[in-house]
Amino acid sequence: MNKHYVFMNIINKKTNTKILYQDSFVTAFHDINKKAPIHILIVTNKLIASLNDVNDSDTILLGKLLIVATKMAKKYHIDKSGYRLIINCNFHGGQEINHLHIHLLGGKPLGSIL
Ligand code: AMP
Repeated sequence: MNKHYVFMNIINKKTNTKILYQDSFVTAFHDINKKAPIHILIVTNKLIASLNDVNDSDTILLGKLLIVATKMAKKYHIDKSGYRLIINCNFHGGQEINHLHIHLLGGKPLGSIL
């Protein structure tokens, strides 16, 4: 099931989801099912289904995703203690929503996954 509309509705303010940050490139909000004390999603405003679907014209957008992730880490005071950024891609990557986003996780030791 293609669930891209979930994040589009949030970006377009058709839900009551609290927007933590928004500019012309990306939008950030709390994950509804948080896996850590801080779990924020940074989402592209433009609908891109997955990391497989970016191209050279998205270079600035991809940079913005990372820059905003670091800004949110600072805003939520997890920059010094540390955090993890995750981009899931397609089935084996565990991607549920077909709309490119970064997970920002922190606020506790996250352990090793590799
Ligand atoms: P992914 O598995 O990488 O596609 O991650 C999708 C994430 O979106 C999951 O962590 C969900 O908990 C989260 N999510 C789904 N619906 C919402 C929503 N309405 N508001 C905030 N987060 C959501």
